[in-house]
Amino acid sequence: MKTSNNKNADIIFPKGVTISNTNFTGIAWLQMLVTNQDTFDCMIGNVTFEPGVRNSWHSHPGGQILLCTSGVGYYQEKGKAIQLLEKGDVIEIAPNIVHWHGATPNSEFTHIAISTKTNLGPAVWLESVTDEEYNSYKE
Ligand code: MN
Repeated sequence: MKTSNNKNADIIFPKGVTISNTNFTGIAWLQMLVTNQDTFDCMIGNVTFEPGVRNSWHSHPGGQILLCTSGVGYYQEKGKAIQLLEKGDVIEIAPNIVHWHGATPNSEFTHIAISTKTNLGPAVWLESVTDEEYNSYKE
């Protein structure tokens, strides 16, 4: 089955609709691309974070893959340093690894989030990322 999303010459996928919940520190956008969980055991969404916006610490029972497509972002696993994310980067997140992702302070950031083995359950959301944690990135 073919789904055609690209009706805009400047971006690959639409920004979608705003996500407003307590797991994000500000405005993020979500365009679901694949939602047929029963067939593929997988869901794919295009996520855009406004500058400075990140999600809370969380983990995925079935793991997650991030394909970075635009802007500059951050990714951090618990106990490790923040990694800078740029267009073309791929992040593989193993099941149950506690982590967060989001935009850098001065750039919007977009990634395609592929949630694998989704039948194992939804994301497990934990505490917010503190400003101290968010501002700990070192080049
Ligand atoms: Mn995640």
